[in-house]
Amino acid sequence: MDNERKEKMDRQSKNFILKGGRLIDSASGLDGQQDIHVRDGVVEAIGADLKAEGATVVDVKDCIVTPGLIDVHLHLMNGLGAFGVDPDIFGVGSGVTTVVDAGSAGHSLLTVFRNYITRNAKTRVLNYVNLSTLGGVTGPGYSILADPRLIDEDKIEKAVEANRDIIVGIKIMATGGALGAEALKPLARARKLGDNLKLPLLVHIGESWTKDATPVHVGDVLKYLRAGDIVTHMFTVHPGGLLDPNGTLWPQVRDAKGSGVLMDVGHGLHNLNFDVARKILDQELFPDGVSTDGHRGNRAGPVYDLPTTMAKLMALGFALNQVVEMATVNAAKLLNRADELGFIRVGSPADISVLRLEEREWKAVDSQKGTIRARQALVPVYAIRNETIYEPLPVDRP
Ligand SMILES: [Zn+2]
Repeated sequence: MDNERKEKMDRQSKNFILKGGRLIDSASGLDGQQDIHVRDGVVEAIGADLKAEGATVVDVKDCIVTPGLIDVHLHLMNGLGAFGVDPDIFGVGSGVTTVVDAGSAGHSLLTVFRNYITRNAKTRVLNYVNLSTLGGVTGPGYSILADPRLIDEDKIEKAVEANRDIIVGIKIMATGGALGAEALKPLARARKLGDNLKLPLLVHIGESWTKDATPVHVGDVLKYLRAGDIVTHMFTVHPGGLLDPNGTLWPQVRDAKGSGVLMDVGHGLHNLNFDVARKILDQELFPDGVSTDGHRGNRAGPVYDLPTTMAKLMALGFALNQVVEMATVNAAKLLNRADELGFIRVGSPADISVLRLEEREWKAVDSQKGTIRARQALVPVYAIRNETIYEPLPVDRP
């Protein structure tokens, strides 16, 4: 897929009203027809049938209006290898206002990430710094933690302190391939580092890139995790996932969830499997975050964008309000940013998504080409940040 930007009709407005939409704000429990008045980039009023002299009316009748959607796992180091994608493609170009890179940068690349990715994006771009100095520069199939020299706690601490405003945690590839001969030692080092820096760990499970490696048992990984840490790829079909060979959740998974470890979808090229998802959901283990694991290689399918991933969860049985909650207030909590993200409030900067819920049948496809019939689609209409209303980029969604 190329990174080319198509013609979009983004517009700036100092004074506008989103009129006639259904506002779903899980943070405040609002669900109903409400207009939103935005002036000088700030929410000035929320209410039924608002009138404001001189304000431009943006008609969002028949649309869903939500706090700015948050995609908590992507690969955004645009130009890095085969994966790094322009943050605005899965961000404001997909109706999403906040995107989070999951470990493309190790400590030595954080300044580059900040200056060239976060600063140049129209979307808010946050970052999980990779535990490995190599980060994503070698691609996912390499043993990036298999040599003890590849983790440099001092440098990570310094880089994090210099970039606290964008850093939300530490990313670890807990695969046999990545850990190699170091086995679980990098997890112990990550635990210590997370405690020192008061940052959560974001842990990739599922042996999808290194199939000949001995997979790490998820129970061994979970021993190192605490409340607020995140396991991503919860619906992976690959070795190292949440289910035992009989399709039952490993007991350690339930214990970890009970103690506050969070679970993220992380769709990606490999790690959303509908059969696995059904088995896990039937056992009442539910996601805390919904994310695309979006990158250059899955924009054209099977991932497309966050609204499509949310619609896949709806096809698996979740209600619209539940997936909105996951992608807004729950995602903000997962990032420890619930004080600034995930809500629409008078006096706060405008950070809003507008979506269309389409009642139509379509075939949802997972990472293994498994399909389920979906009856509702979610399509981005606008992403709004401050004074700018962004239209989505075209993509051939199903
Ligand atoms: Zn990923």
